[in-house]
Amino acid sequence: MSRVNITKEFLIGGRAIFTVAVNDLTALDTDKSKDRHYTYMITQKQDAQNEGKVIYFASHLCGPNNDNPFDYNYLGVFSPTTGTVFLTAGSKYKKEDKPVHALNYALNVIYERPIKEYKKKWSVDILHCGRCSKCNLKLTTPQSLERGMGPKCVNDVRKRGVMMA
Ligand SMILES: [Zn+2]
Repeated sequence: MSRVNITKEFLIGGRAIFTVAVNDLTALDTDKSKDRHYTYMITQKQDAQNEGKVIYFASHLCGPNNDNPFDYNYLGVFSPTTGTVFLTAGSKYKKEDKPVHALNYALNVIYERPIKEYKKKWSVDILHCGRCSKCNLKLTTPQSLERGMGPKCVNDVRKRGVMMA
């Protein structure tokens, strides 16, 4: 079963950052890496051609700093009406690329669209980006989001040796 802790509204907040963890290793192709997760940011911009209209851009985290927009690759335009993302000329990805697949799959889950039979064994966790309770940096890996702390800070706190009943 997929787990979702974000809403459709969350996606159009203007600076929505969320992580999609792919649980089924057969899901996206034969890549053997165990820790498969993708972090996305959806931003908004006034449409220059259409006054009063807003366009939403989806990008994919590819650099080390999840707080830096320059560490995200532009992926495509997100339509909140249809709940789909479409690639444009400026997109850094092709239709068959994994970050595109994972985002499309996540959107199907968020928008509660029927999942195709052959994809039913897929499962994803969609988690919105939280902050570390110690250093307040953004968290984007599934494990860190689960515990609300980054790996280094967890270790720092454990070293304090406090016994918790
Ligand atoms: Zn931390």
